[in-house]
Amino acid sequence: MALEPCTEVPVQTNNHKNISDLSVLKERGQREVFCGLTGIVWLHRKMQDAFFLVVGSRTCAHLIQSAAGVMIFAEPRFGTAILGERDLAGLADANEELDRIVDQLLERRPDIGTLFLVGSCPSEVIKLDLAKASERLNQKFFPKVRILNYSGSGIETTFTQGEDACLGSMVPVLPRSDEPSLMVVGSLADVVEDQFQRLFDKMGLGPVYFFPPRRAASLPPIGKGTKLLLAQPFLSDTVRSLISRGATLLPSPYPLGIEGTTAWLKTAANAWNVSDEQFEQAIAPSVSRAKVALDRYHQVLTGRKAFLFPDSQLEIPLARFLSRECGMELVEVGTPYIDRLLMDQEINLLPVGTALSEGQDVEKQLDRCREAKPDITVCGLGLANPLEAEGMATKWSIELVFSPIQGYDQAADLAELFARPLERRKRLTV
Ligand code: SF4
Repeated sequence: MALEPCTEVPVQTNNHKNISDLSVLKERGQREVFCGLTGIVWLHRKMQDAFFLVVGSRTCAHLIQSAAGVMIFAEPRFGTAILGERDLAGLADANEELDRIVDQLLERRPDIGTLFLVGSCPSEVIKLDLAKASERLNQKFFPKVRILNYSGSGIETTFTQGEDACLGSMVPVLPRSDEPSLMVVGSLADVVEDQFQRLFDKMGLGPVYFFPPRRAASLPPIGKGTKLLLAQPFLSDTVRSLISRGATLLPSPYPLGIEGTTAWLKTAANAWNVSDEQFEQAIAPSVSRAKVALDRYHQVLTGRKAFLFPDSQLEIPLARFLSRECGMELVEVGTPYIDRLLMDQEINLLPVGTALSEGQDVEKQLDRCREAKPDITVCGLGLANPLEAEGMATKWSIELVFSPIQGYDQAADLAELFARPLERRKRLTV
């Protein structure tokens, strides 16, 4: 597909009147997902004065350590207070133990400005009340250190909900201000944030705050003048909490690909009455660079079939990018859940007739996938290896959350993440 200059925004939609215009298969069977603790991997890199203390088991500790790796050159900013058998059996006072560990940690690490107590399956099973624990610890340590808490438990979540829960825990402590401002919600790599900030500056749009901030202690203000622009589509609870504090949501597609990024920026520009001319001037150099870079991958991907399993909650925006900007055919687009408030703008851009599925019944979905023989399957780590062994090319959906993929300069990188497994599979089969 040829990408036209962005003089015609907002983008052409497919005008699904409502979700029933699309075929949505709802499944409530067995699922394959990581838990919300995974979010610590990217959140601890983002907020550099924060520490994440998981209150959990050795399994939780192993998950975080294997996902985040070991920090060799810096002191780690995450850890696990391991609940032992005595805690789990109720023989020890887990609150006392927790207080002792927090004391030790904060004494040893004066650089910590915000401490997140992160609940897990085991802490929830023994009904350890981390909200009460943070209240108690705040009395001792605030204002030097702010203690917040959220749950990363995997019982009912998908892994990106860990970020939703973390940001949600910060909303009540955001300072109040009714001054007009734009809040970009959802963690972005610093390099992407800087690119967006430069584009907003060129449009004369601001002040702009990014949430989460780079330092958890520098909380953005919130109030009636705050307009919310979502950078990530998995923040259902956070958005509703921000709205309940007076902010207004600017519904928009997400900034994936050239088209998504243009629509996203244009949503903010319209809310600030930026003229079309100023908008075009601001984005034109980035758009033309991105088109040249993306074209190469469009040639590799066009006409190929993609099957997306539900995992990260990024599936619908990704599918829109793969179909509209890379020319791919969507066999099935699975997503853990569909939140209409956050997803309508994206659903409107999917090709008419896209097979959407919500939730999962993993064996049935695997059968559909095998039968369709897609060129690439986007799925969680647990499914990727078996499918690779069956000769299918896969892309780990978690990699898409860890990588900087938003914005113009990353559009080609995003396409490359899908082109690479196809190339590898080609080399393996010749
Ligand atoms: S929070 Fe639950 S699902 Fe996640 S690692 Fe710990 S025990 Fe496992």
